[in-house]
Amino acid sequence: MAKGLVLVNTGTGKGKTTAALGAVSRALGHGLRVGFIQFIKSKDTGESRFLEDLAQDKTRSLHYARHGRGFVGKNPSQTDRDLARDGLELAQALAGELDLLVLDEINVAISLGLIGSAEVAEFLKGRPPELNVILTGRGCPDDLIDLADTVTEMIEVRHAFRNGTPACRGVDF
Ligand code: ATP
Ligand code: MG
Repeated sequence: MAKGLVLVNTGTGKGKTTAALGAVSRALGHGLRVGFIQFIKSKDTGESRFLEDLAQDKTRSLHYARHGRGFVGKNPSQTDRDLARDGLELAQALAGELDLLVLDEINVAISLGLIGSAEVAEFLKGRPPELNVILTGRGCPDDLIDLADTVTEMIEVRHAFRNGTPACRGVDF
C-alpha cells in the first residue's frame, strides 16, 4: 500500500468541504473504506442526508458522524469541547479500519479552542501509515500545514453571499 497523505483544504473561499466530498466519492468508487467526521456543524444539509443514506448501504464502507451542535461563540462550552474531543477519539478508533478519513471543519474546532492542534498533530503522526486524512476549514494552524503533504487554500475572489444572495440549496448546503 502507498503511504497515506495528509491533505488540508483551508482558506476563506468556498469549496473546502465540497472538495473533501469529491474525494469521498472517488474513494468509495474504488471500493475504499471512508470515514467522515464533521466538527462544529449540526445542520441538516444535502451532504449530511446523502452521507447518512450512504452509510446504510451495505455495498459501501462509509462511517459518518456529526460532532457539533452548530454555532460556537468566543466562549465555547464544555459540551462543545467534549463533542470535539469525542470526534477526535472516534477518528482514533476508526483509523485502523479506513483508507480515507475526512475531518470536516476540524480547523475551525482548533481555532475556537475546542481541541488543540498538538493533539491533532499527534493523531496524524501516529495514524496507520496508509491512511489518507483530509482536514478542512478556514484558519488551519501552521503546525498542521507543516505536517501536510498537500495544502490548498481556497481564495475568495467573489462570493454571491456578498451581494445578499442567500445560501443556495444543493450548492451551499
Ligand atoms: P462548501 O461547503 O460550499 O465547500 P466551505 O467548506 O469552503 O464551503 P465553510 O467555511 O465550511 O466553506 O462555509 C460553510 C458555508 O458557508 C457553506 O454553505 C459555504 O457555501 C458558505 N461559504 C463558503 N465560503 C463563503 C464565503 N466566503 N462567504 C460566505 N459564505 C461562504
Ligand atoms: Mg466547510
